[in-house]
Amino acid sequence: MATYHIETYGCSSNRGESREIERALRDGGHRPADGPEDADVAILNTCTVVEKTERNMLRRAEELQETAADLVVTGCMALAQGEAFEEAGIDAEILHWDEVPTYALNGECPTTTPDAEPVLDGVVGLLPIARGCMSNCSYCITKFATGRVDSPPVEENVEKARALVHAGAKEIRVTGQDTGVYGWDDGDRKLPELLDRICDIDGEFRVRLGMANPGGIHGIHEELADVFAANEELYDFIHAPVQSGSDDVLEDMRRQHRVEKFREVVATFDDRLDHWTLSTDFIVGFPTEDETDHERSMDLLAEVRPEKINVTRFSKRPGTDAADMKGLGGTVKKERSKAMSELKMEVVGEAYESMVGETFEVLVVEEGTGDSVKCRDSAYRQIIVRNATERGVDVGDFLDVEVTGHNTVYAFGDPVDEAGSGPAGVEDAGAVLGDD
Ligand code: SF4
Repeated sequence: MATYHIETYGCSSNRGESREIERALRDGGHRPADGPEDADVAILNTCTVVEKTERNMLRRAEELQETAADLVVTGCMALAQGEAFEEAGIDAEILHWDEVPTYALNGECPTTTPDAEPVLDGVVGLLPIARGCMSNCSYCITKFATGRVDSPPVEENVEKARALVHAGAKEIRVTGQDTGVYGWDDGDRKLPELLDRICDIDGEFRVRLGMANPGGIHGIHEELADVFAANEELYDFIHAPVQSGSDDVLEDMRRQHRVEKFREVVATFDDRLDHWTLSTDFIVGFPTEDETDHERSMDLLAEVRPEKINVTRFSKRPGTDAADMKGLGGTVKKERSKAMSELKMEVVGEAYESMVGETFEVLVVEEGTGDSVKCRDSAYRQIIVRNATERGVDVGDFLDVEVTGHNTVYAFGDPVDEAGSGPAGVEDAGAVLGDD
């Protein structure tokens, strides 16, 4: 749970992206700070339209790095000239806007508010299945506010899911601080049963399982993978934050898993599912992380090759045990974060590259910026379709899309016509992609 300050410059597209960032931050339990001086993380959404603007962006980034605990730069200038910030001596994390909310979580789980009810947002139904967790991570401030997991019965959550489907939900997002420990408070590990029951509801919809710590999934991972394999409604996607490739650091973080447990979870899903997406998180620069520990994290990332990776530079949260540990220097954290981010780009780029030229069935889940829509394939990979109005593509549609390119955060694609004679409007799409 962090306080944030966000500043947006430039066009309506940037403002739309900042609104999305804020929405995700608030959904994750963060709150706005009164100003940059009170913020745990300051976010600068930049514009690069003329040279004078660029100078202003650099100057503002310099000012913000003096005030906020952590600075993230996103937007056009970050993507086109990210190196300019480093050259100016600005210690900022350069991120695509889609990556900002997870970075701001600082390795903590997203929170669900007490007694949170399901919410339908467009065709996306948010289903909080429980609040709280069973852990006591040494870097986490969230747990102070939420406490031990409190799980309503399976039947109650299934009824809520049914109500969402009846109200028009096409994608149900099963959320919770740690969905893997659902039912632990009753002495029963009930996540596989819950997911199976939700998938039995009449209707055409998809189900996305929210963050589940490796320690919570391990032990039910075989049963869980079987449920995924048996139900096409479930996106073949898990978000299991490993946080470090070193058991020593995991112990200091007081995580409930060790690296081998994480590996076993991944191997089981590899075994049961043909195409699935592993999303994981790494905290870089934890106070007790030495060079060998860092290398172990790099090696684990290179070995497991997750399709989605969130890299967070460790920052202290007041009142946590990790805040009392002697921290690493900013330069060390920055260098390790840079090395891991470079490896991440290589691994994720390779995964996206393998999608190009392939056709996937997708669900259109929400509107994107401009006239684009965001789609998800069966492994929850994000594919953007542009010129949606002209192509008659609406939110809630299921359609086949051929992937034409990617930017390592999401893929771009063109709808394939029903006769299967190739992507519709390829020439138009090519012209649009060229606009970027
Ligand atoms: S699992 Fe760990 S990081 Fe997540 S809320 Fe619980 S204590 Fe915090």
